[in-house]
Amino acid sequence: MPETCDVVVDTTEALDRVRALQRAGKRVGLTPTMGALHEGHLSLVRASIRECDASVVTIFVNPTQFGPNEDFQQYPRDLQSDLDRLNPLGVEFVFAPDTDVMYPAGATTSIAPPKVAETLEGAMRPGHFAGVCTIVCKLFQILPVDVAFFGQKDFQQCLVVQQMVADLKMPIEIDVRPIVREPDGLALSSRNRYLSGEERERALGLSQALQTAERRIEAGESDAEAVMAEMQDVLSRSQIDKVDYAVLADPLSLEIPDRVQRPIVALIAAHVGRTRLIDNRLIG
Ligand code: AMP
Repeated sequence: MPETCDVVVDTTEALDRVRALQRAGKRVGLTPTMGALHEGHLSLVRASIRECDASVVTIFVNPTQFGPNEDFQQYPRDLQSDLDRLNPLGVEFVFAPDTDVMYPAGATTSIAPPKVAETLEGAMRPGHFAGVCTIVCKLFQILPVDVAFFGQKDFQQCLVVQQMVADLKMPIEIDVRPIVREPDGLALSSRNRYLSGEERERALGLSQALQTAERRIEAGESDAEAVMAEMQDVLSRSQIDKVDYAVLADPLSLEIPDRVQRPIVALIAAHVGRTRLIDNRLIG
């Protein structure tokens, strides 16, 4: 296993290297990221290294999944520190293309996302999932690996990618891994570094509201509306600035039920200061 990872920026070289690995009989795993790597990302990379014979990581801040008033410009970019984190793990190579490689002038084709993209994040962030589907599809063409690793942290994204892969008959397995949290419950996110100390305290409201939902359901509450009201309550007591949604949903369709049926997923998107955070908890 290599001790340091190569950085590949060219699509043909990336494709050739994946094919060479597969010709050698290796099962190849991919972890797509936008960089600013933390233990959540690294848990996916470690899973890939455990489950596959060779692992590739992509680092690309994808402009098309950001809205016009979102944080694309400010999004943290530090390739060297990302590579320092990846180096000890033993990945085959890191694919870190420039924007004009992924979106050359005139490349106007995009993927229309599946129905499950319409609600929640899709409703709050118009165009987001078209951007996600398009970049994931391009990455799967350039890196036709056997399996790709995604985090449950982006619960809806996992459903969207799984449905796209099924609908478009893409020959790739999607492996979803659990959320990595700080000891106090805060889900790791590249955006946590935007939070001041005081905002970070308030941000704990998201994981606390999810825990409350789980406890209520474990205790036998079957009225979904009552559980969602309690989630809102915890969020407002934590002085979360703005809640985009705090819901219970069916974990496959994301439809919001009247009665709690298990399994069910609790999902939250909320703003703390200028930072938008998401979190979720699968119950059942
Ligand atoms: P991003 O760089 O934010 O696009 O994330 C890249 C991948 O890492 C996605 O599949 C995310 O769901 C996953 N990820 C992000 N945060 C976490 C976390 N706290 N635990 C597990 N996976 C995560």
